[in-house]
Amino acid sequence: MKSHYVNTIYRNRLRILAVILLVCLLGLMLRVVYIKLVSGGYLTELSDELHNRERTLESKRGDIVDRSGVVLATSGSICRVSVVHNQVENEEETARVLAEILGLTYEEVLEKVQKRVALQIIQNQVSTEQAQQIRQANLPGVMIDENYDRYYPFGSLAAQTLGFVGSDNQGVVGLEVAYDAYLQGIDGRILSLTDARGVNLEGQGEQLEKGADGHVLQTTLDVNLQQYAEQLIEKAVTQKNANKGALIAMNPQNGEIYAMALYPSFDLNTPFTIQDETLAQTWDQMDEAAQMDALNQMWRNWCINDTYEPGSTFKIVTASAALEEGLTSLEEGFHCSGNLVVADRRIRCHKSGGHGSLTFLQGVQQSCNPVFMTLALRLGVDRFYEYLDRFEFDEKTGIDVPGEATGLMHDKANVGPVELATMGFGQSLTITPIQLLRTAAAVVNGGTLVTPHFGKSIMDSSAQTVLKELTYDTQPQVISAATSDAMRTALESVVTEGGGSKASINGYSIGGKTATSQKLPRSAHQYISSFLGFSPVEDAQIMVLCLVDEPEGIYYGGTVCAPIVKEFLENALPYLGVKPNYSTEESGETDALDAEEGYTAAPDVLGMSYAQAKKTIEEAGLEVESLGSGEVVSEQFPLAGEEIRKGTKLIIYLEEEKTNEDTRFNEAD
Ligand SMILES: [Zn+2]
Repeated sequence: MKSHYVNTIYRNRLRILAVILLVCLLGLMLRVVYIKLVSGGYLTELSDELHNRERTLESKRGDIVDRSGVVLATSGSICRVSVVHNQVENEEETARVLAEILGLTYEEVLEKVQKRVALQIIQNQVSTEQAQQIRQANLPGVMIDENYDRYYPFGSLAAQTLGFVGSDNQGVVGLEVAYDAYLQGIDGRILSLTDARGVNLEGQGEQLEKGADGHVLQTTLDVNLQQYAEQLIEKAVTQKNANKGALIAMNPQNGEIYAMALYPSFDLNTPFTIQDETLAQTWDQMDEAAQMDALNQMWRNWCINDTYEPGSTFKIVTASAALEEGLTSLEEGFHCSGNLVVADRRIRCHKSGGHGSLTFLQGVQQSCNPVFMTLALRLGVDRFYEYLDRFEFDEKTGIDVPGEATGLMHDKANVGPVELATMGFGQSLTITPIQLLRTAAAVVNGGTLVTPHFGKSIMDSSAQTVLKELTYDTQPQVISAATSDAMRTALESVVTEGGGSKASINGYSIGGKTATSQKLPRSAHQYISSFLGFSPVEDAQIMVLCLVDEPEGIYYGGTVCAPIVKEFLENALPYLGVKPNYSTEESGETDALDAEEGYTAAPDVLGMSYAQAKKTIEEAGLEVESLGSGEVVSEQFPLAGEEIRKGTKLIIYLEEEKTNEDTRFNEAD
């Protein structure tokens, strides 16, 4: 019984306890509901307001400078004007003053001032003078923040290489993308404490959290060489009415690129303005996708992002491989009958009558196709591909800009004798211009594959201290020093005795290789002329590749590009402090020849009939040699204006009907 009594007491006490707990719980719940429903909006608003009073203090993006510190890309100070609606005392007056100073309409400013948002930007790019005027007007609720705008002092200089930034100050193309992480600084913050109505809390000023400015990128580019390269390539493309052109100059010992000039180009300060006149005329009728395509095309660094069929400059690979494998020597004798039959196919030399008997060295000088077909066949598919591997044609060079392409070649399994033979003289495969330059550098520098690059070092934001030297991979002994030595001799003789004579410079030893590649389809008869040159031969300090795409008239690399490379090197060598390796007295012969009487400027006979041209040429004291069977002169050699010895031949090409020979392969050198 007792236990029952005790149980009842406990049960009553528990009930009382439960009721008390329940009441407490209800009270708490009511409080929560109250906070949520009644004062919650207020609190949320307050916290939002506090949050929105945080403004960004933009950091300065780091400069890009050339190898001597000349500024190529910089960030200038500009101001941003914004309005905090709740702090504005007189909307009309504020709008009127801002519109007047900023040159905007009163209505558009008023609309922005009246927007019930925490922070409304009125204008982003405001000059410091305008900002000063606005500060002096002392308008409550108007904020002025300083930020930075990217500026390129040289406009279009090295445009495709440097690249530019978008409105968010992030790199869009080129080095601005590749080094974005270094160039971008860390943004700071401005915090201001306000009450719910957005009025600054008494005694609470603005709080500044400082960020950090971006680092400076020092490049290997040289402003003077870059400017000069751009002038030369623009002149060449314009004169030859070509599609486009490029001139790249690199140190073949370490891969530092001094200049990469592409024409046509664009202005980095207005990158969204199309430069092509035809496109510009119809720009407004184009849809957005077509416009974007055109812009991408204009920004494209095709020396790195696109491949082409290299033609004869690629013969340096076949030659190096054959020498390295001991399959030939500079003295070995060959015979060229004008073509070589490979499997069931007759593949022509560019010299239709044939080179006759010649040594391997002469084969390099004359760029004789049958010599290189023979060497490729001697190497065989496996060994030929081993050298394609060694020179890393199926890999990126590692150059420090985005979007690099790699070479395209047949699957090894599908390569028969015809493919192998044509690859031997630079057809049936495509590579990028920068891959070719890298390969040629290895061929002449003793056999080391370098990484072409633009980035030299990362410096602090004031460009005073080097924070990091940028380093790049190298691959030694792709070919032996002895092979490299033999190749230098062969390539020097191309300039002294072969097709590259127009690149020779008094006092300097120059090595080089010409190329004229026929674009696909071959029936279109469009060419890429190119010339690769370096100096001094013994210890090359600079290597230059010049490409002219679809030149009109004469299209031989030795005629179109060798003189451009010569002109560039004539200035670049002394500029880089490279001393002439022999005195002008030793090479005085050429001077004497130039001074000799009896020279005349070649007349311009393009577009003339055969009879007209013959008359003009003979009146100039020259003889005529005509090629082709058409009616109108489509090409001439030498070009109009070039010095030519009286009594010698001026070759004219008459518009020709195509024969039905195998035109898959290029007959040009
Ligand atoms: Zn030949």
